[in-house]
Amino acid sequence: MSVAHGQNLIKHPSFYRTVAVMFFQVESTLFKVDIGSLQEYADAIKEIFSIPPTGPIDEGTESRPIIIQGITATQMDAFLTWLWHIEWRPVPPEEDILVAILHISHMWLVKSGENYAVHHIKNLGLHPARMVELGVRYDVAHWIEAAIPMLLNTPMRQLSDCHMAQLGIKIIGVITKAQETLEEHRKRLAHYPPPLNNYVPDCSTHTTCKHVWHDVWWKTIARAILHPKEPCRLNDCLDLIRNTSFSTMKDMCKAAAIVSIQESGSFAVEGQVTQRAIDSILEHYGLKKVDTTLA
Ligand SMILES: [Zn+2]
Repeated sequence: MSVAHGQNLIKHPSFYRTVAVMFFQVESTLFKVDIGSLQEYADAIKEIFSIPPTGPIDEGTESRPIIIQGITATQMDAFLTWLWHIEWRPVPPEEDILVAILHISHMWLVKSGENYAVHHIKNLGLHPARMVELGVRYDVAHWIEAAIPMLLNTPMRQLSDCHMAQLGIKIIGVITKAQETLEEHRKRLAHYPPPLNNYVPDCSTHTTCKHVWHDVWWKTIARAILHPKEPCRLNDCLDLIRNTSFSTMKDMCKAAAIVSIQESGSFAVEGQVTQRAIDSILEHYGLKKVDTTLA
C-alpha cells in the first residue's frame, strides 16, 4: 500500500519535538545538547530561551558555547544521564550523582528531576546532619522534619566535624538549646514526683500509698529517667510507670496518678520541644511546613 505525502496530518503528542542543538561549556568540558527536550522539562531553561537573545548571535555554537557556572562537568553528566533516561546506562543510586541531579534540577526548575532525586536520596540512609544540610539547600522540608528528632537524641560529642559543618551554627544552636531544655525537664520530672491527691475517700491507707509512690518513684522511675547511657524517653515514662510494681500502693490510687500525669501533659513535652526546634529551623530558612493532613 502506498501512502502519499498527506496534508492535515496529526502531530504525534509525544514524538513531534522541537530539535535544536546547543553547545554548553561546563568547566573545561563541551556538551552538545538537544535544547528542545531540555526546555520540555526545565521551566527555567524554557523561560531563558523564550527571551529574545541580547548576546552575540553565535552564542551557543561550538565555537562560542554557553558557559554554565556554579556546577561541575560531573554534575552536568549526572543530570543529562537522568534527563534522557538511557535504559542501558541507568542513573547509579549514588549520593554524588543523585545530589547533582537535585542541584541542577533545583537550579533550572526541573520539578520531575527534583522529585526523582528526592525520592531516591531518602533511600540512601544518609546521616541526619547531611539530610538537614540537603533539606535546607534544596527546600526539602520533610527531610528536616525527619532528621531533627534523630539529632535531638544524638549527643553533640558524637557528631563529627563534618556533621557539625553540615548543620552550621544556626541549627547546632537550635538543637543544643532543645537538648538542654529537654534535659532540664527530665531532671525536674525525675526530682519531683507528680503529686498524689492528698485525700482519697475510698482509700483507707492513702498515707502508705503516698509513701510508696515517692519511694518507688525515686528508686525506679527517676533512676530510669536519669540513666546516663540509656535514659527512659519521656514519651515512654507512662508505660514504665504502668509496668512498675508500686508494692502496697492501691491500684486505684496508682491509676488516678497516671490519669493526673496524662492530664498535666508534662511527659508529652518532648514532642513540643522537637516541634518548636523544627519550626524555628524551617522559619529561619523560609521553608514551608509539610502539610501532614494531605499525607
Ligand atoms: Zn491510696
